[in-house]
Amino acid sequence: MRITIDREACVGSGQCVLIEPAVFDQNDDDGLVELLDEGPLTDPTGTVEDAVQRCPAAALGLSPD
Ligand code: SF4
Repeated sequence: MRITIDREACVGSGQCVLIEPAVFDQNDDDGLVELLDEGPLTDPTGTVEDAVQRCPAAALGLSPD
């Protein structure tokens, strides 16, 4: 799967980074989400899907490879 991000929707809460810091980061200048791993990736522990679901701005999504 691949992660989709909508930086216009992101409010920089950092929730995704707290849940999965190996995949998500925040830009040093504007605090908005950036991907550390563009994928395709697997999510054996479910943390990526958890981060996507918990984003308060619905700025994250998942798509097939
Ligand atoms: S959880 Fe959502 S709003 Fe918060 S930094 Fe990540 S993408 Fe942005």
